[in-house]
Amino acid sequence: MAAAYDFQDIEQRWRERWERDGLAVARPDAQRKKYYVLEMLPYPSGDLHVGHAKNYTIGDAIARSMRMLGYNVLHPMGWDAFGLPAENAAIQRGIAPAEWTHSNIANMQRQLRLMGTSYDWSREIATCTPEYYRWNQWLFLRLYERGLAYKREAPVNWCPKDATVLANEQVIDGRCWRCETPVQRRNLSQWFLRITEYADRLLDGLDELDGWPERTRTMQRNWIGKSEGAQFSFAIDGAAERIEVFTTRVDTVYGVTYLALAPEHPVVSCIKGLVSPENARAIDAFAESLRSKSELERTSLMEKQGLFTGAYALHPLSGARVPIWVTNYVLAEYGTGAVMGVPAHDERDFDFARKHELPIVRVIVPTGGSLAADAPIAEAFVEDGTLVGSGAFDGMSSAEARRAIAAEFQHRGIGNATTNYRLRDWLVSRQRYWGTPIPIVYCNACGEVPVPDEELPILLPPDAPITGEGSPLARLPSFIETRCPKCGAPARRESDTMDTFFESSWYYLRYLDPQNEDAPWSREAADAWMNVDQYIGGSEHAVLHLLYSRFFYKFFHDCGWVSGHAEPFARLFHQGMLLSNGEKMSKSRGNVVGIDETAKTNGVDAMRLFLLYVTPPEDTSDWTDEGISGRVRFVNRVWRACEPLAARARSVDVRALPLCTTPEEKALVRAVHLAARSLVEETLSRRFHYNTTIARLDETINALTTAVSVAPDSPATLYAVHAVPLLLAPFAPHIADELWSRYGYERSVHLEAALAPQEAALALDEITLVVQVNGKVRARIACAPSISESEAFALAVAEPALRVYLDGKEVRKRFYVPGKLVNFVVV
Ligand SMILES: [Zn+2]
Ligand SMILES: [Zn+2]
Repeated sequence: MAAAYDFQDIEQRWRERWERDGLAVARPDAQRKKYYVLEMLPYPSGDLHVGHAKNYTIGDAIARSMRMLGYNVLHPMGWDAFGLPAENAAIQRGIAPAEWTHSNIANMQRQLRLMGTSYDWSREIATCTPEYYRWNQWLFLRLYERGLAYKREAPVNWCPKDATVLANEQVIDGRCWRCETPVQRRNLSQWFLRITEYADRLLDGLDELDGWPERTRTMQRNWIGKSEGAQFSFAIDGAAERIEVFTTRVDTVYGVTYLALAPEHPVVSCIKGLVSPENARAIDAFAESLRSKSELERTSLMEKQGLFTGAYALHPLSGARVPIWVTNYVLAEYGTGAVMGVPAHDERDFDFARKHELPIVRVIVPTGGSLAADAPIAEAFVEDGTLVGSGAFDGMSSAEARRAIAAEFQHRGIGNATTNYRLRDWLVSRQRYWGTPIPIVYCNACGEVPVPDEELPILLPPDAPITGEGSPLARLPSFIETRCPKCGAPARRESDTMDTFFESSWYYLRYLDPQNEDAPWSREAADAWMNVDQYIGGSEHAVLHLLYSRFFYKFFHDCGWVSGHAEPFARLFHQGMLLSNGEKMSKSRGNVVGIDETAKTNGVDAMRLFLLYVTPPEDTSDWTDEGISGRVRFVNRVWRACEPLAARARSVDVRALPLCTTPEEKALVRAVHLAARSLVEETLSRRFHYNTTIARLDETINALTTAVSVAPDSPATLYAVHAVPLLLAPFAPHIADELWSRYGYERSVHLEAALAPQEAALALDEITLVVQVNGKVRARIACAPSISESEAFALAVAEPALRVYLDGKEVRKRFYVPGKLVNFVVV
């Protein structure tokens, strides 16, 4: 019996050796195909648990597999290090955000190393360092020069808990993405990035991304929300102003029975002048009742409320008087802030009309149906159909009518066919401290002045008062007070910092050229490595980081800083969640399994094997005590099977098939090659279902354990022992290298080529042919897998067991299913 496997000592030793040898350091190499595999850069929150480890283990298994398959692999890691938690730690515990962040980075970096991950640490970045955020500022200025960064006053999302504004993408169902507080609306002057300019390209680019999960592409399509429709205006009865609306269903325009306005709509003040003082006061009271309500409350939680203003619009085609309402569900900053109400053909309008006893007028009937235009209406009919009650447009299909009515509006000069997007410009100002200062100065004489490149970086001052109230930088005169770069007069710095999603929109390029002091990256470096071949990270970023990065990358393309692919991430993989004994892992449940603890108790190899083994990596998996114990036992079985034969394993060439004399030996070598084939296929197909590869390794080790006890000297046994580290290396890198070195190799197993699966080893020696007579099984015959049809019939006819069924009978028909079955029909 071999000595027990001392994983603690051995794992530690190999990690040190890999670092020393620079095993993961990547350099451009014209001889080999490049492969850029990237996990989303983590926020340094403090401590990693096995749930985080799942993501990094998938990435590392891919990186190690691809290296062994001959690719020049780039696998970097860094830190998304700005953001609110550091500031909150400062408020709660009095630790400086920088100190809190850097100590967390140190700890998490140690833990990632502990996991045996093969990152090229020479490329490590932290977005909170001046060396990095200097280029944020530089990029901001380039966006500014091209009119893609601009400041304007607008109603914005305000998180009262975090005391800062949020981008639309950071409002999930009306709540703050970080703290889930319902978001409020405030009018503030803020910096925006003109992502809407790229809406069509962001949409079109999705079509090429067939290596992305379909669901994520759909989410981005929906978020961009391109809709073809018509924009046109209603005149107000008694006033010169007009009310603009956008609709995708202009074919239903004759069914308009009211207009719904946001109470904040600018035209409301004009309307108040047209109506009675009582009506005007009621409108004010209605607006006031909604002032503090969040978008979530208004559009989802609250009942649809409305108030008739007392004023009327005039229908642009029929001339009918249309009552104007203010409602809670129309928001001023979406679309035009006004919506035409068509109760017969829209569910929300139908409910609203029922509640407020507004007319419901059918103007579309199902095409080819027999529905009378004046039949009672029990629910909204929202499909396309044929127009009725629509003047000159009666009898047209919805599609025809949409074109014809838009053309009519254009003819009359009150509207046209147009395209609308749901996507809004990206709000990037934050009223917080721990972020990149926006490089703009305000001068009384010159206005908004960009900071010259030579003055970058604008350093984040270490001494800002962080209290959680108001912008810390705004209250620091030593930061705010400056001179105008243009005229030299006293001026004020912008006190807002950037959304941290700015940094993470381009970090994958900084890894390529992390020491560059003249540019964020060189075109040469980008050409050598981009785009990212495989990106791995959570699906929660579907419309945040993954949309912003695509926008930036298209901008970089336009600037000529990158070339080739117009998309930064060729393939995207969302890892599944990891539960802990059936429950979500959380501190409050006390079921968090730490990396340090697992590394110490079970070993890192066992942990990595477990994380990859339980389910396909995109599925939810469950960390269980039995599960991890099973993998610990597996590692020990590998050790007991291979280590005692270490001295002899190398005598058998692992690149040539051994001579097998018994079925057991053939089965063992076949098991080795089934595992080898699985490793290659799961990697190159980009499916990454390494759970099946590890299941194959289980079978290999089972067969090997038996072989070692019955035939330790056989070439097949020694061959399998020799092969095991090559197969295990991507998943259990430590024990793989330990065995490999005990076989006498100087060089790491991770620098070896993967074991190529060989058909000769995979081919079955024989197959079983089922022989039927009149559909009944009468014999099973062993034969070669390559058997031909005529050989199969000859073999079957010669089979002694069939004499009794065939002799003296006439064979009417015979069938052959290749490799499986022969059937004789006899009479
Ligand atoms: Zn919040
Ligand atoms: Zn000036």
